[in-house]
Amino acid sequence: MESLRWTRAGTWQSVREICLALQRTCGREGVPGRPDCLHPGQAKNDMAMDQLRLYNTLSRRVEPVEKDGDRCGVYCCGPTVYAPAHIGNFRTFVAVDLLVRTLALASYDPFFVRNLTDIDDKTIAGSQAAGQGLEDFTGHWTEVFHRDCAALNLLPPAVEPRATDHINEQLAIIGRLVERGIAYERDGSVYFRIAAWKDYGRLSRLADRELLARENGRFAKDGAEDFVLWKAARESDGSVRYASPWGPGRPGWHIECSAMAWKHLGPNFSIHCGGVDLLFPHHENEIAQTEAAMDRPIARHWFHVAHLQIGGEKMSKSLGNLYTVADIVTAGHSSRTLRLALSSCHYGRELCFRPESLQSAGQALAQLDAVGKVLQKSSGGGRPMAQQFSRWQSVWEAVLEDLNLPLAIGRLFRGLRHWNPEKNANDDDWAEWQRLLFLLGLSLPPREEAVPDGIRSLAEERMAARRARDFIRADALRRKLADEGWAVRDTEDDYTLSRQQPRTG
Ligand SMILES: [Zn+2]
Repeated sequence: MESLRWTRAGTWQSVREICLALQRTCGREGVPGRPDCLHPGQAKNDMAMDQLRLYNTLSRRVEPVEKDGDRCGVYCCGPTVYAPAHIGNFRTFVAVDLLVRTLALASYDPFFVRNLTDIDDKTIAGSQAAGQGLEDFTGHWTEVFHRDCAALNLLPPAVEPRATDHINEQLAIIGRLVERGIAYERDGSVYFRIAAWKDYGRLSRLADRELLARENGRFAKDGAEDFVLWKAARESDGSVRYASPWGPGRPGWHIECSAMAWKHLGPNFSIHCGGVDLLFPHHENEIAQTEAAMDRPIARHWFHVAHLQIGGEKMSKSLGNLYTVADIVTAGHSSRTLRLALSSCHYGRELCFRPESLQSAGQALAQLDAVGKVLQKSSGGGRPMAQQFSRWQSVWEAVLEDLNLPLAIGRLFRGLRHWNPEKNANDDDWAEWQRLLFLLGLSLPPREEAVPDGIRSLAEERMAARRARDFIRADALRRKLADEGWAVRDTEDDYTLSRQQPRTG
């Protein structure tokens, strides 16, 4: 079957290319010393690899991560684009971002793929309710997702495939499973016969095959636990349907990721990632589909990120405790603060998120920024990122051991207690600090453009009004600044000014 043959040609992405992709995204190509940039001096394979050890859900052990060939393929189940992702989703994406950054700094040459689920019951129902076509509807929510990713400084994936662009690949895998007698058709739908695949359950290790039959009753299936690969078209799907050898319909969710991972990473790639809620049935089904069709494992390492809880409860719409990135920023916290707060707990443990988490992250960030500014100033800011750690080697070692960020951050702040960068720092410290900031995903805030005295005093006057809770006056002064071509943005207890187009009319 031709379409299942995968070729490596043209798919490699070096660290340098990640860097260039990042620069394209941030629009600051070629800025020397930009903390987010693995500067182009760091060529592929010109450095010894540091070994990353990571918990593997498949073996239930912490194991060394291995490259697949001369790179490290990483697949992450991305968002379903029908609403804004909430901070629980972003806890996973921030942890995966830390993983990719660590792989890049350890010279694993990561090739990162994160998909978009743009076809399922939720996107179809959402687009119908909005009176929009599926593509327009999911396109809007994809933009919102990208905006939030940029706010949280997540590295863009090398490839961001959409499920609707991979229908043929999905049909090819389903066809292979049908040929092999592992899948069967009933009333225009196709199901994976779990009884025909003896290895089912290896990842989740479910006792007594405690398998969920979520769609039981809606479709005719031979076994209640069998899962759907292809769904026959229903009236409620409207015009969303594709042709297949079994009649019009659309793919099931699980087959989408098997097809996109196969297409862009090939078989047996290094690491498959996702939130722990995807472990069963989604990832279990992905393994079954891919292995049964290809006779090769999908991935070696399975990386799962634990839930985020708010006040001891799982975040959910019905409990009214669901927060988006925009909610946190509107409440006056910076997205950098949110990123640090989401990183405060080991990825494998539940993160209990509280308003105080943001306050303490904000204080920690202010301390890191103060050190960064001193180092940048003392070096003139002209040095690129260091190629290795030295003063902060123990921080790096904590990250290399199962991404133990809480231990790493603890070591960092202990180190800062015994070091005065004002008196005892050199250019190497600034170069290394950039490497540290890259690892943590916390670039320094952009430097303010020179602000004229008159504008500065208007902004100060506005800040004083805000502190006095005279919001009418504060708003009037914000409008006055806007008329002069300056945007003011509030932070926790300060503000920043940036140039904008003067208002007209
Ligand atoms: Zn997936």
